[in-house]
Amino acid sequence: MTQILCTDCGHVGEPRAGYCSKCGGTTVLPADAPAARRFIEQRQKIEGGEAKPAPLSVRAEATGKVLGRILGKLTRP
Ligand SMILES: [Zn+2]
Repeated sequence: MTQILCTDCGHVGEPRAGYCSKCGGTTVLPADAPAARRFIEQRQKIEGGEAKPAPLSVRAEATGKVLGRILGKLTRP
């Protein structure tokens, strides 16, 4: 049986009479449809946090603090 993707809850599985078997949503796509694949990919990107910037190293953070202090002194009247 064809699997479906529910665009309401993101569940992928066998449909129940055309509805999402998890949340009962009616906005379902065939899981192998190009639109469904894009939807799943986008969801995984959001959940995987691929867009997250690399965390600052402790050293870079300390340098930033020192620079900030110096700049603060220089710009003070
Ligand atoms: Zn659902």
